[in-house]
Amino acid sequence: MEVSDHNYLLLLAFIKLVSFASIVYIILNISKNHCFSKSMNYFKTYFILAFILTFIHIILEILNLEQSFNAVVFVYFATSMVLLLAINEQYRNRLITIIFSTILLSYLLLSIYFQFTLLQNLMIHALGSIVLYSIILIASLNKAKQLDNIGFYILASAFLILIMFSFLELFYIYINNLEYAYTCAVSGANSGFILVIIGFLTQIMMSEYKVLNSIALTDPLTGMNNRRGLYHLLESIIPSSNRNSECYSVITMDIDFFKKVNDSYGHDAGDIVLREFAKMIKATHRNTDVAARLGGEEFILILPETDKKAALVIAENLRLKTEILKIEVNEISIKITSSFGVDTSCSEFDMDELFKNADKALYQSKSTGRNKVIHFLDL
Ligand code: GH3
Ligand code: MG
Ligand code: MG
Repeated sequence: MEVSDHNYLLLLAFIKLVSFASIVYIILNISKNHCFSKSMNYFKTYFILAFILTFIHIILEILNLEQSFNAVVFVYFATSMVLLLAINEQYRNRLITIIFSTILLSYLLLSIYFQFTLLQNLMIHALGSIVLYSIILIASLNKAKQLDNIGFYILASAFLILIMFSFLELFYIYINNLEYAYTCAVSGANSGFILVIIGFLTQIMMSEYKVLNSIALTDPLTGMNNRRGLYHLLESIIPSSNRNSECYSVITMDIDFFKKVNDSYGHDAGDIVLREFAKMIKATHRNTDVAARLGGEEFILILPETDKKAALVIAENLRLKTEILKIEVNEISIKITSSFGVDTSCSEFDMDELFKNADKALYQSKSTGRNKVIHFLDL
């Protein structure tokens, strides 16, 4: 087919080539490390394929070789299928995949069988795009809300642009200006797909960030905050405590003779004990409290708006609950006790000081017989 605005289309193809090359570079770099997103492999295939096809397209344009419109359409839909696999992995929505692939495949077969004219191709492209992209637009907005991921909002805006270009394409078909209609289809595909790329990469980066963040801040055995997670949470708690000048209490806990549990029942049984102990702490504490596993069999509980008296009641409650904790491992019932150290501050808020003092109180509990609660102010 003849397109008079040859240079414009060539420029668009160059922009596309550079974008695809950058994306391939970024994706290859990301996937060198472990990546949690399965769709990354499909994206890799899609963008490498898209890069090669755009490259061939540019060479043919430069050499001024006539390109069959059907071949261009075929390539466009073939790459869309790979993109579809990636999208399927992202949205996990079977209905979208079925509608998408049915429309694409039937169009491919029909175009081969009927050898559509340019007008027919443009019509099908515009109408098909409006239907397909509207579905993905709605799915993107739903996913954005559901997963709180800005990448899906970028994707929604990309599909909105694609839909707008398709309407413009329909308008030019209507006023019988097929050249402009074709330019609209190409411009839409280029600008829209660059945004699609940014959207997908942002979405993957955001979800990778969330996974890595939670791995970094969570203890895998108990699902509790680890030491890093605790300090991360405290950053948001400390300013509010200074503002309100409320009392803050800290309880540190250490299971008694835990080494014996490991030695007598095995390390796996020890792990179950740790999980059950953590579950008991989680079930006991209030929403505003922060619990963490500091390492080994040592746990901590930060209690905002809690004075000495209330903290001692909570610690004593935990001690009693530990005593009656039923831990069944291979039909053997394991009994444990734990020692507790508590500290409270109602004026200057210094978390490190509180931790240190609670630890001193815990040490006192251990050295004076274990299975007891001692407050630093009573030392
Ligand atoms: P104490 O009453 O003085 O606290 O004695 P203890 O035996 O509890 O204290 P100690 O610190 O000597 O032993 C802690 C043990 O906890 C040693 C270590 O093997 C075990 N431990 C640390 N982390 C884990 C874990 O993730 N799983 C299991 N099963 N054991 C662990
Ligand atoms: Mg111990
Ligand atoms: Mg210990």
